Amino acid sequence: MRKKIVAGNWKMNLTFKQGKELTEEVVERVSNTKRKCEVILIPSFIHLAAIERITEGYSVKIGAQNNNENKDGAFTGEVSASMLKSVGVNYALVGHSERRTYYHESDETLLAKSKALLAEDIKPIFCCGEALEDRKNERHFDIVKDQLEVLWSLKPEEFEHVIIAYEPVWAIGTGETASAEQAQEMHAFIRDLIKKQKGEKSAEATSILYGGSCNPSNAKELFAQADVDGGLIGGASLKINDFMSIVKSFN
Ligand code: PEP
Repeated sequence: MRKKIVAGNWKMNLTFKQGKELTEEVVERVSNTKRKCEVILIPSFIHLAAIERITEGYSVKIGAQNNNENKDGAFTGEVSASMLKSVGVNYALVGHSERRTYYHESDETLLAKSKALLAEDIKPIFCCGEALEDRKNERHFDIVKDQLEVLWSLKPEEFEHVIIAYEPVWAIGTGETASAEQAQEMHAFIRDLIKKQKGEKSAEATSILYGGSCNPSNAKELFAQADVDGGLIGGASLKINDFMSIVKSFN
């Protein structure tokens, strides 16, 4: 069976102290909760080492929001995959729409970042999703197909570690969520693309997460869809009660 996942993307939020406090609460509540999913915290770089210490021995995993595609060297301000590995990072976001938009990350860069992570046994959570205009012009399937194209060059033993997150840009941080039907339709489309490119076994095994204003009131319906394997949660991951309610939203 595919892994169900709830991952909290804190983005550029929380001080060091606030991050530690939130992690302590998540660890305590997750340990006392019967749940059917992997829980991943994705804080800023400054939190990673401390969070690794707090989550050690518990089933909560840690993810990074970004990585540099180079192994090491003169790249001031950047963090490599091996550095992430050295503080216990298990997952990393690649191609979040905010990075595609504000930092102009190209498809080639996103592939290089994914490869750098895979070389360190870190699982990329590869994000895709269309803008509002693309949806209005009914180009959403084409956009997502194009964004995923770079992944097909990965070897099977690499691709099996990739997680995909479908995040329609118009739903991120806007309070507007894709309906369960819209999410299922796109997730089924993505799974079909994987099937065509990587085979049925791979398609069945790949977790595809939904992201975009996912909250305690819509998570259950979204996660009940056949091809939705959990969520990438932004705003709601900063509120312990909302996040835990989402973690418990699997049937
Ligand atoms: C995100 O940024 O990945 C995200 C899904 O944000 P939000 O839940 O706030 O829409």
